[in-house]
Amino acid sequence: MSKNPLGWNGKSLKEMLNESEELIEKTKRYYGIEKLSLKEKDPFRYERSYASLRGALVSARETALHVAASPIVKEIGELCFALYTPEGDSIVVSTGILVHVHTMSEAIKFMIREDYEDDPGINLGDIFLNNDPNCGNVHTTDVQTLIPIYWENELIGWAGGVTHQIDAGGITPGHDLVSAIQRFDDGIYYTCRKIGSNDKIWKDHMINAKRAVRTPMYWELDEKCRMAGNLMIRDAVLDFIKTEGIDYYKRFMREAIEEGRLIVLERVKERLIPGRYRAASFFDIAFKNEAWQPRAKIDKISNMPIEIVIGEEGGISLTFDGASGSGPNPMNCGKGAMEGGQWVLLTQILIYGDKVNDGAYFAVEKEYPLGTWCNPGDPYLSYQSPWGNLIPAYTGMMKSISYGLFSRGFREEVVPGYGFTGDAIQGGGFYSSGPLKGERWSLSTFEISGQGLGASAVRDGLNWGYAMWNPEADLGDVETWELFQGGIPYLARRVKPNSPGHGKYRGGANYEGIAMIAYSREVDFFGAKEGLCFHGSGGMHGGYPHGTGYRLYAKNTNMKEIIQQQADYPLGDPDPRNGQFEKYLKADITRKPYCSIYPIILENYDLVHFAMSGGPGYGDPLERKPERVEQDLNDGIYTKDIVYNVYGVVAEYDEVKEEWKLDESATKARQQELKNERREKSLPFGEYWEIERKKITEKKLGEAATRMYSESIALSTNWAREFKEFWKLPEDFQMEVK
Ligand code: MN
Repeated sequence: MSKNPLGWNGKSLKEMLNESEELIEKTKRYYGIEKLSLKEKDPFRYERSYASLRGALVSARETALHVAASPIVKEIGELCFALYTPEGDSIVVSTGILVHVHTMSEAIKFMIREDYEDDPGINLGDIFLNNDPNCGNVHTTDVQTLIPIYWENELIGWAGGVTHQIDAGGITPGHDLVSAIQRFDDGIYYTCRKIGSNDKIWKDHMINAKRAVRTPMYWELDEKCRMAGNLMIRDAVLDFIKTEGIDYYKRFMREAIEEGRLIVLERVKERLIPGRYRAASFFDIAFKNEAWQPRAKIDKISNMPIEIVIGEEGGISLTFDGASGSGPNPMNCGKGAMEGGQWVLLTQILIYGDKVNDGAYFAVEKEYPLGTWCNPGDPYLSYQSPWGNLIPAYTGMMKSISYGLFSRGFREEVVPGYGFTGDAIQGGGFYSSGPLKGERWSLSTFEISGQGLGASAVRDGLNWGYAMWNPEADLGDVETWELFQGGIPYLARRVKPNSPGHGKYRGGANYEGIAMIAYSREVDFFGAKEGLCFHGSGGMHGGYPHGTGYRLYAKNTNMKEIIQQQADYPLGDPDPRNGQFEKYLKADITRKPYCSIYPIILENYDLVHFAMSGGPGYGDPLERKPERVEQDLNDGIYTKDIVYNVYGVVAEYDEVKEEWKLDESATKARQQELKNERREKSLPFGEYWEIERKKITEKKLGEAATRMYSESIALSTNWAREFKEFWKLPEDFQMEVK
């Protein structure tokens, strides 16, 4: 029992949280709300109330990011704010990086369960900081500031803001660290720490925080940004209560969340067909030759099977039963990451529009099996780059929901997946000359927030315009990225050919870039993305997955001479088999078939190439209109050889008009040839099954795949049984990595 209860009617926060959970459990409705009485009585007042609170949050966000914020926050809006009930359920959220709305909810619940109201106390004006992935965060890079809101002597809610940092003080510079394998590599951890009182951040905290990261100025700016937004939200809530009354506010918050839950159920009934949906997704972690740490030298594929059951009443339940294991890599996911990923996608493909809040969270049942990458149960592992698993894993949810949308006839809503928002390039160094000599620069081109979206069942995917974690996808300006990563100016940025997945409707296309190290010393460089296997669950109804990533860089180059002589230099890597790096440079050129690399050291005049992701395609490529393919050639989206091989399109380049021209009769003939080839090469399922089965029984699967299956078999009896049944394997079948 709390000594100084902060909750309503003399209750402690813990009592309020327990009561809320019991009511949900018992009634299956948020807080046991049976009737939206405020809405029924005066719908105009109710809707106006919601709109005014949402408006306050959006304006807090817009203002705060201009008051003070690091470039990464300011340029692409890597922040969001939310308003919570005393128990930590979100009522209303701002625009922005919606992945974080339920994450802060878990942090508030953590503080309540740990009796923070007794020790360290939750007083008016107190400030709490959290970035612990085991207490409702995604990774240490995302930093949350939470403040309580009081009306008289009762705690009536919380305001929370989150921003993504450029550096959190981890094992190497950067914000999604490839080389972190344990908690102690992840950078500074703030586990729901009190860092201020009376609306002031304590000086000792700020001194400590600024010494704990490599970009202290940005850290301080962003702390101020989050605090400014939170204070604006608190003021707005108090103004709201002055106008509408405290009793109205208390009832309103409950009804708004219950309405959020009901909206999901209604939308699901309207858009999907009840039943079981399944999809498989994968991600390669090829660290055998990359990792520094002996126990991290492992090649594996992450297995991310998802099963979604849509109930007749509109309920959604999902499970990752059969997922492969956690491990010594940074891609382990805590609950905050899993909830965040789910949240951001559901709000975009199913629950967009009206009340967006934790009602959606309560409408979805989920299972993250213990010991897997999505619930390791070990806070000492690294959670620094959960995105490696999270991003591919949830393409399965998108694809499953797309099957439902398609079946109901919402063909334009179908999205079979999205490009991998991999950290194209990361790292940092020091300026070796110029006015900033000795200062550190950090590399984080957040143009990764503009990837290719998957095609729908009626049109091509959006080009360079989607990020699964931030619906406000924006590439940002090269000039802004250059401003704070000055030691690595861009040499080129252009459309990367052949990035979109093929199909009747192709996936979204994307860019590639080349940058050069300049005026710097001690430059660390690394990157992460899928490379050896397709990320996510691929295309749909015959559409192809999009092109995978790879790594390309050049050391010891002759760029100094090239610049002096104003000679040609690489502007891209449109055809890796005839690379411009190889053509124009005298250098040590490295090409790796995988994309995730541990940090390397670069020197001035070294070049790095990076490519953003395309999106998966929809439908059979042979059904794509040849005129559309001709347009793709003219837009630089596909190359001649690829459209010949995949689409059966024959086109010639007209040197005078400088455009591609379709050869209609040659195209018809080539397409017939491809159809014949399909007929000749295709196998009956039984034969195909035999061939694939032999790979298992004769132990011919590669090490990475073997490790994946062995982990899934060990972690899930259901999955193991189904695997053995499907492949007709003996009961005692085991899969072991030699
Ligand atoms: Mn982040």
